[in-house]
Amino acid sequence: MDRVPSSSSTGAGRYAPSPSGDLHIGNLRTAILAWLFARTTGRDFLMRVDDLDRVRPGAAERQLDDLAAIGIDWDGDVVYQSTRLPHYRAAIDRLTAAGRTYECFCTRREIQQAATAPHGPMGAYPGTCRNLTDEQRTARRTEGRPAALRLRAEVGEYSIIDLLHGEYRGAVDDLVLRRGDGVPAYNLTVVVDDGAQGVDQVVRGDDLLPSTPRQAYLAELLGLPVVEYAHVPLVLNAEGKRLAKRDGAVTLADQRALGNTPGDVVAAIANSLGYTARTTAELREVFERAHIPAEPWILEPIGLFLPEGCP
Ligand code: GLU
Repeated sequence: MDRVPSSSSTGAGRYAPSPSGDLHIGNLRTAILAWLFARTTGRDFLMRVDDLDRVRPGAAERQLDDLAAIGIDWDGDVVYQSTRLPHYRAAIDRLTAAGRTYECFCTRREIQQAATAPHGPMGAYPGTCRNLTDEQRTARRTEGRPAALRLRAEVGEYSIIDLLHGEYRGAVDDLVLRRGDGVPAYNLTVVVDDGAQGVDQVVRGDDLLPSTPRQAYLAELLGLPVVEYAHVPLVLNAEGKRLAKRDGAVTLADQRALGNTPGDVVAAIANSLGYTARTTAELREVFERAHIPAEPWILEPIGLFLPEGCP
């Protein structure tokens, strides 16, 4: 497996935004937590831009500027996934050589319509193309259907240990490794990159907890070490839904337009974590990871984060 050099041998944490738009206060809070977890445990902190999908021009630069503006620093250069395609290909080739992949010709609609295997996890791939004969595969190829490549999983579930959630056991299905359009899939790239970068601590939003057993299983197949996970609560809007752009002044640019500084935003995030601090450096001095709130932060449409007069 390739290794991207890291400046220490003490492991690393990371933040890996997808450049689909500006980061909102929930993303910034998760980034601060990932940075705090890494920096308070003597780890490097790495920045990776997951730019294989959903890329909006200029978004990566603005995201990195915003992260720097709230006091997040990182070690080494930013790694862009779009520069790492040969490494994903190599990992896929290794799995294929070991007989652990198969082509899948199903459309999204077919997968949704297919009955899930008995006792199978909700939404899991039912294995339609897993046992196609060579003739069936050839027939589908000649129909011109673009094939995705799936993992031939040999377990239905896998357990991980999460610092906030404890032991978490979740579904593993025949996940997609390479999409029909040829783009390597998120679950593969994240595992390959974390392994190559020496990341041994993954702190991210708890919406990704259900994907983690799949990723940990894939990491094991690729011979990568076990990672320390912390899936942190998200920021929700007043209706209890995941925060989104339409929820008001939720980005740093929105806040600046209201006259609030990055320090004001850091202070609000620190407050949501139970601390009084105006900089990430101050927060680092007092942060105790055992005490992070288990509940989501509900961002009420009042005060700092919405313009006056908003309902
Ligand atoms: N690029 C992914 C996202 O923004 C990050 C996933 C991860 O942290 O593993 O959702």
